[in-house]
Amino acid sequence: MKYLVIASLFALLLLLLYARIRPYLVALQKILTVARNITDPKSTANSRSRAGGITDTKLVRCVACETWVPAERAIGTGAGGSLYCSRECLEKKSDRREKKLAG
Ligand SMILES: [Zn+2]
Repeated sequence: MKYLVIASLFALLLLLLYARIRPYLVALQKILTVARNITDPKSTANSRSRAGGITDTKLVRCVACETWVPAERAIGTGAGGSLYCSRECLEKKSDRREKKLAG
């Protein structure tokens, strides 16, 4: 019976200890993740923040103005295949007045 009390006290102590060091462990894990990203930039998406660099990104054509744009930049549902280079084109296409004027 005595051992049970000691064991439970010990468990409680461990729990308290764990609760106390947990924030440090979480912070440490975050630091490690950040450090890994810094030391190994290839693992992260490198073509997203880089402007002007020629990468192997897939090009898609804007259905409104027929300009080829990187798929990352394209706006659209994607499933239906209608993609736009910008929000302007999306809105232009959606109100369909331009088509009658052109034709
Ligand atoms: Zn466009």
